[in-house]
Formats: sequence, structure tokens, C-alpha cells
Amino acid sequence: MRTEYVTITEDRPDEKAIRRAGRILKEGGLVAFPTETVYGLGGDALNPSSSRKIYEAKGRPSDNPLIVHVCRLEDIPPIISREPRGWRELAEAFWPGPLTMIFPKSEIVPKETTGGLDTVAIRFPSHKVAMALIDAAGGYIAAPSANRSGRPSPTMAKFCREDLDGLIDMIIDGGQVGIGLESTIIDLTSDEPTILRPGYITQEMLEKVLEHVEVDTAILSDDSKTPPKAPGMKYRHYAPKGDLSIVEGDQEGVVSYINSQLSALREKGVRTGVICTDETAPLYAADTVKSAGKRSDEEGIARELFRILREFDDEGTEVMFSESFSGSGVGMAIMNRLMKAAGQKIIRL
Ligand code: AMP
Ligand code: MG
Repeated sequence: MRTEYVTITEDRPDEKAIRRAGRILKEGGLVAFPTETVYGLGGDALNPSSSRKIYEAKGRPSDNPLIVHVCRLEDIPPIISREPRGWRELAEAFWPGPLTMIFPKSEIVPKETTGGLDTVAIRFPSHKVAMALIDAAGGYIAAPSANRSGRPSPTMAKFCREDLDGLIDMIIDGGQVGIGLESTIIDLTSDEPTILRPGYITQEMLEKVLEHVEVDTAILSDDSKTPPKAPGMKYRHYAPKGDLSIVEGDQEGVVSYINSQLSALREKGVRTGVICTDETAPLYAADTVKSAGKRSDEEGIARELFRILREFDDEGTEVMFSESFSGSGVGMAIMNRLMKAAGQKIIRL
């Protein structure tokens, strides 16, 4: 298949191109498109054959459900079977935006889209190109991240091209995304609202709206025996091709530990890399040192993380070390993704 490329940015919405992309989706094709979190790989959410194609293009296990994207609150009642407590308040506070809510699904949502579950994950993105495309496609786009399964989520269109060129109908280039990590997922079908995947919308922010929000304990644990409640969180993910370990401790200790490892590896001729922040970048002696930005700017770090992981792949880096991050606020989402990328390997000094 030949993949068509178009550039449609938020400030220059090309309506003709959006209509063409909408038509591809309505006819059962696949389009990668920008959202405020990461690029999504879209198909018609109500068409089982589109969802099957998404799994195939991504090489994704079919028990890993897709998120349904909408662009109007009125479009939600038809795809859910019951209104869980709190959803309207959360929608009011965070939609359009990077929050996904899990609802009981109605009959019209095919099991192919929900990975066989009776629940459906729904998000109302704030990116203008995404909103226009959802509208043009008829209101419901199923979209996981637009990467081959297991690779870091794409934060730029060129990464969608790397993974999906020739496998899907169209890629819309809308520039670099704003957030860089996938949406926060909150389950509203359990007894207590529970965060299944941390993201830009933090537990503290959610608790300003719903008194109490649980966090699925599998999210940050390095005990892989606890199965996470979001099926997708159990897969090794975001994985760079080389070997990544996280090192946690005080700054001086971390720098000296990583440097001692690097010098041993260099003697063996292994290609090394470090993920760190501006404060420590000059202190490391790796083949490639990548700063994700200022340590105090966790939103900036979130935006750069997946790009950095992909660059290490392109550069053929064999062994990488990453500094660790705060673990609260957006830092919780950063650490969750890093831990998955590292296959849970963390060295605590
Ligand atoms: P991605 O689309 O790549 O951001 O992945 C979607 C994430 O949402 C995966 O981790 C899924 O397991 C999770 N998800 C989607 N639908 C549901 C659902 N009905 N219940 C729980 N988790 C879900
Ligand atoms: Mg994904």
C-alpha cells in the first residue's frame, strides 16, 4: 500500500485534506493523526474490520483494547450502556484534553474495538486537527498510539512514517505534539475511580473533582506478578532496542555510579548512552548524552522522552542508563513509561 502524506497544522487547517482523510476512515481505511498527547492511528471505531486492521498494522495483540475518540459530549450516550458517577464532572474539568475514561459499553461498539471487553475507553482530545478529523469521520475514531507495538509512542509524524509507512492509508503531519506522553486513563466502572495509566492529568488534579481516586498498584511496581487492570499496561512497551536501566539515588551518587559503569563498558567497546537533565549532562562520559531538559520542568521532560528513546535506537546505542524522576505529578507518568522501557530494571543506590 502507498501511504499518502499531508501536512495539516492547528493554525492552518486544510479542510479539503481533512475531508479526504475523513472519507478514508469512513471507507474503512487507517489514518495516523496528531493529538495533544501523541500521534494516534485512527480507524472507524464502530467498524470491526477497521479495528482488526489497526491491530494488524501495529502488530498489536488483539486483547489490548483501543481508545475511542469523540469530538462532542452528545456522542457519548449512544456508545455507553450506563452513565457512571463522576464522568460529567470530569468531562467538565478536563475535556477536551488528555484524559481517557472507561465506561460500560453499549451494543454498537464492536468487541474488536474493546479487545473483547464489555467496557469502552473514551477520550475527547483538544487538538484541533484531531477534532476536525473525528467530525469528518462520523464522530468515532478508534485510535491507539501510531507506533508498531512495543516501540515508543510517536511524538512527531516522522516517527509514524518510520513504523507504519506502507501499512496505512495516510499520515497527517501536524508537527511535534504538545504533551508527549499518552493520556491518563481512569476507570469509572470499578467501586472506586481508579487510575489505570498515569499521564499529564495527575491524581491530585483528579482528586480536586472526585474526592478520592485510587491508583492501580501495578503501575509503578517492579513486581511483574501483579497484573495491571488496563490490558495494554502488561506488555513490554516503549522499549528501546538496547538495554536500559534506571539509576536512582542522590545526584552525586548517580553520576559517579553511571560513569563507573560507562568506563567499564567503553573498555569492552560497547556503545553507551545516558538520559539525564541539563544540570548533569556535562558530567557524563557516554558515547551519547541526552538531556530531556531542566529537572524542574517535568512537562518538558515528558515531551522529549519518547523522542530520546527512538534516537538511541537510530544511533545503535547498546547500553543506556537513565536518571530517575520524581514519581509524583507528571513525574509519575514519566517514571511509569521509563520503568516499562527499562523492563522494570531500576538500580537503587
Ligand atoms: P494506546 O491506545 O496505545 O494509548 O493504548 C490504550 C490503552 O488503553 C491500553 O493500555 C489499553 O489497555 C487501555 N484500555 C483501552 N480500553 C480499555 C478498557 N476498556 N479497559 C481498560 N483499559 C483499556
Ligand atoms: Mg500505545
